Amino acid sequence: MNPPDVVLAELRALRAGDLPTHGGRTLAYVYDSGMSEVDSLGAAAHALASSANGLDPTAFPSLLKMENDLVLAASRLLGDVPGVVGSVTSGGTESCLLAVLAARDGRPSPSIVLPTTAHAAFHKAAHLFGLRRIDVPVDPVTFRADPAAMAAAIDDSTVLVVASAPSYAHGVLDPVPEIAAAALERGVRMHVDACIGGWVLPYFARLGADVPPFDFRVPGVTSISVDLHKYAYCPKGTSVLLHASAELRRTHYFASASWPGYTMLNTTIQSTRSGGPLAAAWAVVNHLGSDGYLKLASAAREAVSRIRSGIEEVPGLRVLGDPVSTLVAFTGDDGFDLFTVADEMKARGWYVQPQFAHLSSPVNLHLTVTAANHGSEKEFLADLAASVDAARGAGPVTVDPAVAEFVAALDPATLTSEQFAGLLAAAGLGSDAGLPDRMAPINALLATAPAPLRERLLLEFLGALYTP
Ligand SMILES: *Cc1c(COP(=O)(O)O)cnc(C)c1O
Repeated sequence: MNPPDVVLAELRALRAGDLPTHGGRTLAYVYDSGMSEVDSLGAAAHALASSANGLDPTAFPSLLKMENDLVLAASRLLGDVPGVVGSVTSGGTESCLLAVLAARDGRPSPSIVLPTTAHAAFHKAAHLFGLRRIDVPVDPVTFRADPAAMAAAIDDSTVLVVASAPSYAHGVLDPVPEIAAAALERGVRMHVDACIGGWVLPYFARLGADVPPFDFRVPGVTSISVDLHKYAYCPKGTSVLLHASAELRRTHYFASASWPGYTMLNTTIQSTRSGGPLAAAWAVVNHLGSDGYLKLASAAREAVSRIRSGIEEVPGLRVLGDPVSTLVAFTGDDGFDLFTVADEMKARGWYVQPQFAHLSSPVNLHLTVTAANHGSEKEFLADLAASVDAARGAGPVTVDPAVAEFVAALDPATLTSEQFAGLLAAAGLGSDAGLPDRMAPINALLATAPAPLRERLLLEFLGALYTP
């Protein structure tokens, strides 16, 4: 046996190689309140309930109560409309999956209508649950869903219409009332994906921001997803899926009595469900309360507003769309490579997330701004300006035209694993290469690959990573 302190020391050493989850320097994946007691409370509550199993709420009534409390808190925040029910899930993707699953059996060969900016979780849902996806182009400049085009895309096979509040990629709010009205008129369900905005936009509104309506007060909205592990600043592993009525929710529940074991009764995709994330979220939400969240929203709002105007002052940078929330995506002029800017930021201790070009959306860098970013905006902006200068100085990242041509001609459907291994090695992503320090050359090559090929290449890469 290895003594616990030795094992923990090893774990700490491993964690030291990760991106920092606190301090505001990682502007993707993590949501930092900047309040250490929030983290310690979450961890303590997690430890208290992690052995309890949400599989049977009658055996663990504490979990039942905490889940009902969280659903009620989310429902109060998102319109406070009577009749709203919900489920706590493991994350935003699971909430979106269940919203689609709940709707699926409404038509014989079902489809979902979604803007091209909807989160890829809906692509996953269509893939897993066998629905057709009708991707509706968004406004090419504002990146907001086009309500007339969405309405026109609804047909007799549509079981769900989706809008984002806001979209992840650009942080812009879709015109929910218009889209919901079209869905209502056709008798189709309408889901608002507020995974990333649902716990912060209501507070922005209280702080005086102009936030167009997107919650259950909008006629036609039948479900909303909101992640607790984003702007509710809870430890990872919790989201809420709300439905306007218990009847709408029932179709994502699952029961099986047709086997010799216990009757399996599930509200979500999971069956055994750790009480840990739920208890952690319950504790954090209880601790912070509306006044705590209002303060955190105020800090995040101040930070995002300073960062956005700072970006607009850096020559050559341009913010995409009109972000309403805590997300900012910006692109650059032709004089430098944005992937190099990301690498330069990394060298200066900041993680910013590159996004590839997609339809009218150019290649860009994405920032998830949280309360913890307040106070270091100037430092961030100074490093960003320096990184842009460095990228200009470094010149363009060129992909050998022969390689680009070769890649463009590849058909992911007919390539073998060996050929992929060769390609990955050529791209610097070979199985024994380890993780490269500078991603710009790799991203530049990946950017030349059409999306299906990029998906396949990165899946091969993932498979290589997850080989013990
Ligand atoms: C984060 C996010 C999701 C997916 O959530 P996960 O918790 O990462 O599974 C879905 N939709 C939007 C808009 C998001 O921002």
